[in-house]
Amino acid sequence: MPDAPLPPGSTIGILGGGQLGRMLAMEAARLGLRTHIYCDEANAPAFDVAAQSTIGSYADRDALARFAGVVEVVTCEFENVPAETLEAAARVAPVFPSAKSFAVAQDRLTEKDFIRALDIAVVPYAAVTSLADLRAAMRTVTLPALLKTRRFGYDGKGQVLIGNEAEAESAWAAIGRVPAVLEGLVRFEREVSVIVVRGQGGTLKFYDPVENVHENGILAVSRVPARISQSSGFAARSIAGKIAEALGHVGVLAVEMFERGNQPDLVVNEIAPRVHNSGHWTLDACLVSQFENHVRAICRWPLGETARHSDAIMTNLIGPDVKKWRELAKEDGAAVHIYGKAEARAGRKMGHVTRLFPKS
Ligand code: AMP
Repeated sequence: MPDAPLPPGSTIGILGGGQLGRMLAMEAARLGLRTHIYCDEANAPAFDVAAQSTIGSYADRDALARFAGVVEVVTCEFENVPAETLEAAARVAPVFPSAKSFAVAQDRLTEKDFIRALDIAVVPYAAVTSLADLRAAMRTVTLPALLKTRRFGYDGKGQVLIGNEAEAESAWAAIGRVPAVLEGLVRFEREVSVIVVRGQGGTLKFYDPVENVHENGILAVSRVPARISQSSGFAARSIAGKIAEALGHVGVLAVEMFERGNQPDLVVNEIAPRVHNSGHWTLDACLVSQFENHVRAICRWPLGETARHSDAIMTNLIGPDVKKWRELAKEDGAAVHIYGKAEARAGRKMGHVTRLFPKS
């Protein structure tokens, strides 16, 4: 019965062993589903909470085939999974989301071209493959602008701010002279994201739009409800739904946007084809979290309720912030989540705390 939901007792394979995999595994367990983590690092946070784990290279086709052979479905908890890894797993087991979602999200140029082709506004941008290109791009994209590598950028890494034309050469060197995009710096009022989940039959469900604050390129705080107008909320949802549809995405997709002065005036910054940090509040403020809904989507379960029962402010515990766990644990109305990482390096996401408030 190919369309039947995977019953409790089935095993989900997760590529990647970080905190997102850990929270997916914990929510899967609540539904009686087992998880098997495949990760190239020892001591990955998800290993602690999964039924099985494999330490293996993402290039090891044989190990990936063995892994996919002992699970019912495969998903991924990080964005930069190599295309060959997905292919190796997909030869043996169904993989959700599919390679298309990853191919689009992994490359900032492909991503912007794809979204713009849907008639959705993106930040002003130009492709850069050489210093000469960069100089030309600086004539079409107004400075100041951000030069970002097309691939492998995250949490503000792989990007440099260019204030004037004299900085072209040093910026090009700073990103390692790799294919890039030059992006106009958007003067936004606020950053907003939408977490959408799409089922295998095409059903879409949305969580309430989230307002995000980034510090040094890393998400610091997410708040729900976002302080946006109702029409902005509709527009943000509609953008996220359109992108999920166009990708034929299955599972959770996050769409990050900037809102400029007049509401609604949204431009898309980027998408993530996976559960997302700006959706962590759903664990505590919704009956069914983004993690559970991702599991439901890939296992062909009906999608769960996405409405929030409380307002929420989620704060990331970055680096040494996690040392405050004793005080946080004493706080009423605060849900503490710690990812079990051994070393609290600067800039590393170690946990988060979600504070709940009566629904407004
Ligand atoms: P990114 O890794 O591209 O999501 O960038 C991380 C954060 O840097 C964003 O969430 C924004 O706060 C900021 N940022 C990135 N690109 C732009 C842009 N084109 N204009 C203004 N701020 C940006």
